Amino acid sequence: MRLLVTGGAGFIGSHFVRRVLSTTSDRVTVLDALTYAGSRENLGPALASDRLTFVEGDILDAALVDELVREHDAVVHLAAESHVDRSLLDGGHFLTVNVMGTQILLDAARRHRTGKFVHVSTDEVYGPLLKGAATEDVPLRPTVPYAASKAASDLVALSAYATHRVPVCVTRSSNNYGPHQHPEKVIPRFVTRLLKGERIGLHGRGEHVRNWVHVEDNAAGIDLVLRHGTPGEVYNLGGGTDLTGRQLAEHVLKACGAGRDRVDYIPDRPSNDLRYAMTWDKAARLGYHPRRAFEEGLAQTVAWYRANPGRWEPASHEAGSPVLHT
Ligand code: NAD
Repeated sequence: MRLLVTGGAGFIGSHFVRRVLSTTSDRVTVLDALTYAGSRENLGPALASDRLTFVEGDILDAALVDELVREHDAVVHLAAESHVDRSLLDGGHFLTVNVMGTQILLDAARRHRTGKFVHVSTDEVYGPLLKGAATEDVPLRPTVPYAASKAASDLVALSAYATHRVPVCVTRSSNNYGPHQHPEKVIPRFVTRLLKGERIGLHGRGEHVRNWVHVEDNAAGIDLVLRHGTPGEVYNLGGGTDLTGRQLAEHVLKACGAGRDRVDYIPDRPSNDLRYAMTWDKAARLGYHPRRAFEEGLAQTVAWYRANPGRWEPASHEAGSPVLHT
């Protein structure tokens, strides 16, 4: 199969591309604008593969997208602005990239009768749930601009199936963690600050609950949906580990060998949803099963940040911006 992967130089996209190249004979083209969040280095040894083509370009460039989609059998769409805190400052840019970018790709997929279009999304579209867990068909109630832009793009993608039968599947995963995630995101932010001897800040009283999935489990789930998902369907991809912010901090402190005295409680950010939770029975029926135990995955993640300071130190200055992380 000839696969076009947008955002393949980002955190999840690069793990997905590495997986496809090492487990299949597919040819992969990465389309990535290399924003602050993307890096060729994330692809590691996959960059040397003669089955990988790297195109530096923007999903908003309709002519480029048309040409690339025409040459491929399937699209896995991960390119997006992905950081909630940044969306609080610049919601318009999130809408442009996440919604218009998706529409441009879908238009090309319709014209060229693409075999499968996997749109990669997030559990944040469901909004906060005080109890229970979201199935794929509950109403979307996003509360922050990032999640609203993803919810809009999910609906745009599903409407392309309903209207034009573009064979769209949507995946919604919970919070990913693992090696080479940008240090603006919470686990790498905590880890890199502790490794630098700095303190970490917990929002509010540290009671917000998130579900954590290792990035390789999410990549495996996206791969399953690509090959076996039913067009028009949404698949939740969760992990096995629900943690409050305080519990997460405890795990990271332990994994980094740091004490509780390194934690500060800082003012909460606006619309910080108290709890996300979802079921993933549908994906389980395709064979999805999150395998990586959280403590083991976290240890692997900390080991990577310890061993690769050159990969995160420059970006961690920006990630520590008081504007973004008060
Ligand atoms: P990321 O920010 O690490 O990577 C995004 C990639 O997209 C980067 O390589 C960036 O250069 C590229 N990109 C951004 N704008 C682009 C544009 N206009 N044209 C082409 N490329 C562009 O994000 P991630 O964490 O890897 O997330 C990937 C996808 O998964 C996103 O759609 C995100 O919404 C979704 N998601 C992420 C998580 C998570 O926990 N990280 C959870 C659920 C869903």
